[in-house]
Amino acid sequence: MLKSIAVLTSGGDSPGMNAATRAVVRTAVFEGVKVWGIYNGYQGMIEDDIHELTSRSVSDIIQRGGTFLGTARSDEFRTEAGRKKALANLKSHNIEGLVIIGGDGSLTGGALLSKLGGMPIVGLPGTIDNDVWGTDYTIGADTAVNTILDAINKLRDTASSHRRIIVIEVMGRKSGWLAMMSGIAGGAEYILVPEAKFNIDQMCQDLKKSYTSGRRYSIIVVAEGAGSGIEIGKQIGTKTGIDTRVSVLGHIQRGGSPSVEDRLKASILGERAALAVISGVSNVVFGFNSGKVVSIDLFDSVNNTKTLDPELVRLARVLA
Ligand code: ATP
Repeated sequence: MLKSIAVLTSGGDSPGMNAATRAVVRTAVFEGVKVWGIYNGYQGMIEDDIHELTSRSVSDIIQRGGTFLGTARSDEFRTEAGRKKALANLKSHNIEGLVIIGGDGSLTGGALLSKLGGMPIVGLPGTIDNDVWGTDYTIGADTAVNTILDAINKLRDTASSHRRIIVIEVMGRKSGWLAMMSGIAGGAEYILVPEAKFNIDQMCQDLKKSYTSGRRYSIIVVAEGAGSGIEIGKQIGTKTGIDTRVSVLGHIQRGGSPSVEDRLKASILGERAALAVISGVSNVVFGFNSGKVVSIDLFDSVNNTKTLDPELVRLARVLA
């Protein structure tokens, strides 16, 4: 059993990271294990921004979006020299195990750190994109998709009043999960995702036809990885001649108080991660599949790419 562990959040922040960190810290304290917080992700690990945490350090955070530990993108950590420096800092505090909460990139960084040897590493999937292989759930995705849905509902009110096409650009550079889930739940006519081809000319022809036969408005959800919402909106406006407006939701999608699902699942995963690393388990990522906690091999997780469920793509087309 380890005597001292550390926790960090890395990559894009996501609602529920705080709940996960709180669970890691409180589980460690419950088990009589010293726990350290690494501030500002891997960059903080390199810069020795590492501080001991107590149960009180994580009071009043379960309801907050973002991450109180801070997060950062670190180019230095992408180099072996950077990772060695980071590991040496952990060792200097006698830290014996590490919990990493972050997306695909952060877990890849964790896998590379693990290759240097030295301490058990356990990962938790923390990203709004829901694109971590091996788990159908990631911390923050539920809150983000509900934030987008709220925006779609509001935009629908104004679109229907004015007989407009509304294009909504949402996050997802490589993954169309947010667009697909919010688009289906929000009743979008078209959902454009990086994983599926679309024909904009055909789409415009169909839109024109449906407006001629009486449609009042259309909602089109675009994942940023499928193209710029502004550009797509311009093309649609020009090709259809229908008043087309674009909303780019941006960082509003990351913020907000985490949903019940995110708080609960992050808490469950945080406890599991802490218990695992304390007992010396290494190179696993904990997630959920079909409602049950699963442990995934860290290297399998980062070496595989999660794909969008083709059933959802099909359903979106049927319901459009
Ligand atoms: P999100 O899904 O929200 O974008 P992420 O964890 O995928 O989160 P990234 O920016 O890809 O976000 O990664 C976060 C950090 O992890 C990077 O800034 C870098 O320090 C580290 N990292 C990412 N990829 C690698 C890699 N291939 N090698 C080493 N470190 C990496």
